[in-house]
Amino acid sequence: VGDFLLNSIVTLGAGHGGYDFGVLSPSGIAEKDITLEIISRTKEQLNLMSGIDALTVRNDDSYVSTVKRAQLAAAWGSYCHMELHMSKLNGSSSFVSIRYCNVDHAAAAQDLCKSLAATLNIPAVGCIPHLDSTKFLTSDIENYENILNLLVNSGIRNSFYIQCGCLDEAKTAQKLTQTNIIIKIAVTLAAFICGIFKKEHNSSPYLDNGEHVFKSYDKVLLLKRGLFVVRSGPGNEFTAVRKITGGMLTGCFGLKNEWYRISQLREEYISPAIIQNVLYFPQKRFL
Ligand SMILES: [Zn+2]
Repeated sequence: VGDFLLNSIVTLGAGHGGYDFGVLSPSGIAEKDITLEIISRTKEQLNLMSGIDALTVRNDDSYVSTVKRAQLAAAWGSYCHMELHMSKLNGSSSFVSIRYCNVDHAAAAQDLCKSLAATLNIPAVGCIPHLDSTKFLTSDIENYENILNLLVNSGIRNSFYIQCGCLDEAKTAQKLTQTNIIIKIAVTLAAFICGIFKKEHNSSPYLDNGEHVFKSYDKVLLLKRGLFVVRSGPGNEFTAVRKITGGMLTGCFGLKNEWYRISQLREEYISPAIIQNVLYFPQKRFL
């Protein structure tokens, strides 16, 4: 698996979840539900726009700790991670604020901040680089500093922490009851991620002759954890040719008797039983 594949996984984190409600709107809507809805729609939009199949750290009402979020993103080989909150740390007014770790994306983050603020009709207060990820993490509190430090220290430099207004303020809460506003936010976030991809890959050696990479791999497989046998044919009756370490991504070159072929040149197959997840690769990629 080349760097390109490892550099193509997008991960998304809906803030809060489970017993952790986040803030509540005046009418009792929980932040954890709104972040989940927007992130789910962002995943959908991203797929429509670019074919990217993003992975989400939670896709239901479960609690996933900050440490776990970063661990998942790292285990999935994330190239770009976004955490979404609809709350503010303190202060009296609702605003949009974005923290980013890679200064290459400062201008894009600035545009995103303005665009989200315009949609919610609230101020775009800050687009702040988060450049010091060395601070000791004292707890597993879900805040920008902890999650960004964990992500950056896992090698995920394209990490973003987005605070999109505050649900406990009537003005933002009212906007977020409108489905068209929710969709608009999701489309904006998805377009932003596509932009990050485009910028990174325009300067990537893979783009010039990258077409063949896409054509060879129509799917990427995320393997379960463990050490598994690779066989010379699609079934347990075939000879074991080598072993493969799980928890990793590998390209897929076809399917035979439900077994996945994992080498283009050699007859090498793995059992569907060791697959954690099948990621479909971008066909209509990058806007
Ligand atoms: Zn929050």
